[in-house]
Amino acid sequence: MNLELIISSSPPLTCQICHAPCAPASEVYDLGEVMAWWQKNGHSFPAAVLEQYRQAGRTALFTCADCGFGLFHPPITGSDAFYQAISEEGRSGYYSRDTWEHRRALEALQDCRKILEIGCGAAFFLEKMQAQGKEVRGVELNSAAARYARSRGVPVESVDIEEFAPLHREEFDAVCFFQVLEHVAEPLAFFENALACLRPGGRMFVSVPNMAGILGKMAPLVSNVPPHHVSRWTPKALAHLAWRYRLTAAAWGFEPAYNLLPAYIQERLKAKGMPAWVCRNRIWRFFQSLPLKLLRAFKPEGLQSLPGHTVYVILTKE
Ligand SMILES: [Zn+2]
Repeated sequence: MNLELIISSSPPLTCQICHAPCAPASEVYDLGEVMAWWQKNGHSFPAAVLEQYRQAGRTALFTCADCGFGLFHPPITGSDAFYQAISEEGRSGYYSRDTWEHRRALEALQDCRKILEIGCGAAFFLEKMQAQGKEVRGVELNSAAARYARSRGVPVESVDIEEFAPLHREEFDAVCFFQVLEHVAEPLAFFENALACLRPGGRMFVSVPNMAGILGKMAPLVSNVPPHHVSRWTPKALAHLAWRYRLTAAAWGFEPAYNLLPAYIQERLKAKGMPAWVCRNRIWRFFQSLPLKLLRAFKPEGLQSLPGHTVYVILTKE
């Protein structure tokens, strides 16, 4: 790995969140190799997508010594075609019908009328809100997922938030983005645009993978490196972001660690040479889900307090 070469081209040596010094971490990826990694995990891509990333070269992680925010340089992100492929046009399990933070947000959003979700995927969350009589809008880069959402009657546009925000200033009571901030090349610009859509007194619902939890202790997952994730977040980085924009954190939530344990177990087994076809096998997947079912049923002491995959925060705009 020629880390030196990458560092010499204007690296992010200052944290864009808290302005503390950033240093290169040990993670460097060749995008062609990352695409081969996705393929090994059972995903297939059009030749043009593979070629595009093969030509993209390498990217290196820079991490803030203070808040723990990490940014890949250059931040090579997923394209519409990339997300169409990994989500099987929005119809695979890539977009979860029910997540831990969806359940929390559904409760907290009861008093909101107009709700925007940015990066809404196949819009399963918005569909639930719409069924409760809320006025919902979605923005999604994956045009196939947006189409699938529209086919079910959920209004989702396939536009950039940069284009959407100027036309919808202070329009929404709530703006949600779950597991999205880590996908975008310019998280601050994204955050500012999201905030612009929120009315004063409105609330932002944000969730990101928590690198200060169990995820940070695991070997890198293909889903946590470019072109899928280009930044890394911690509760401290989110808190600093909130402070910068004078937002008040109304509630914090940490997903319990046991939701991530099956993925952790699968990763360990794969590392020991478990073939990809076994991991995709239905019977295997049933057995793989057993530890999760048992842990959910018995909720052992200790695991309850260990932060899992996701950190979730509700931020109020003054
Ligand atoms: Zn920082």
